[in-house]
Amino acid sequence: LSQESQDMLSAHEWLTKLYHHLLRFTKEGKEGYAYLKERGIDEEAADAFQLGFSPNADQFTAEFLKKKGYHEQLLVKAGLLQINESGQTSDRFRGRIIFPIRNHLGKTVAFGGRAVGDYKPKYINSPESELFHKGKLLYNFDLAKRYIRKENEAVLLEGQMDVIAAYQAGVRNAVATLGTALTEFQAKLLKRYVNTVIICYDGDRAGLDAAYKAAVLLQQCGCEVRVAYLEPDMDPDSFIRTHGGQAFKDEVIKASDTFMTFYMRFLKKDYQLNLEADRIEYVEAVLKRLAMVDSPIEREYYLKELSNEFEISMDALQDEISGYREKIG
Ligand code: ATP
Ligand code: MN
Ligand code: MN
Ligand code: MN
Repeated sequence: LSQESQDMLSAHEWLTKLYHHLLRFTKEGKEGYAYLKERGIDEEAADAFQLGFSPNADQFTAEFLKKKGYHEQLLVKAGLLQINESGQTSDRFRGRIIFPIRNHLGKTVAFGGRAVGDYKPKYINSPESELFHKGKLLYNFDLAKRYIRKENEAVLLEGQMDVIAAYQAGVRNAVATLGTALTEFQAKLLKRYVNTVIICYDGDRAGLDAAYKAAVLLQQCGCEVRVAYLEPDMDPDSFIRTHGGQAFKDEVIKASDTFMTFYMRFLKKDYQLNLEADRIEYVEAVLKRLAMVDSPIEREYYLKELSNEFEISMDALQDEISGYREKIG
């Protein structure tokens, strides 16, 4: 590790401790802590994730670290300070709740900062740096790793709040992509540890599309994929707040769909299934995908689902799919 990287790491370590202390024990952090409590985060989780608060002052972080001997230039490079048009630096995360983003060794390499309440932008994350490559890291992987191994399953979520809510619900094998598309690097990282990845993204359109892309990528990397279903207005955190942790485990995670069931639901968005022509096209599109499934038992299972839902005979479906299978060879 270069000297510069080591200095960036130690700056992040100082700030993780400082911000956490401010959140938990001082009046500066009171508002942020109250907000987290209101959202159901308890002390134990706040400590486990080292949640913090960055005071709402332009130069607080800058002054703290400069006193410790860090150069302004390094802090800008690490993304802790930002520069405005007139060349002035200021604290990037001022006035925000801090989520330290740790690498696989448990070292803080970046921060996520959430506004206290409904302010825009809702989240700010550290920019890419020598320490932090967004596409190479999964939030909470360091803590989740042993549970991921033990259960041979990983749960993939969108955001920090989702991971923390899952943690409080006893789901310890959860990690998050922090709102960006899953990368091949991250998919391969998961594959090294598990057979099965359960994707549980937000129930909204964006979450559904991202879940599909992640599912395809994970499958290509050799993972068995399951996708959990959430209503369009829910994400894991809000589901747990509304229905409780046990319901999340039993009705969402355990009840997650196979890739094929998810795909059959996902594809429906492209068709108007009240129209006959669209119904036929939809069934054909599903059969094309189903033709790639090697197990005859699995194929039969989904054919039966289609047969029931669309009132088409098994014979006709078998006929059609064998045509597609010949093409695949
Ligand atoms: P909350 O429950 O606090 O509103 P969330 O996790 O549900 O947060 P989403 O809008 O679902 O928020 O976004 C998922 C993740 O994407 C966030 O946890 C955050 O890491 C990231 N994110 C969201 N908005 C932004 C933004 N404006 N800039 C950068 N990253 C963002
Ligand atoms: Mn979302
Ligand atoms: Mn969300
Ligand atoms: Mn949320």
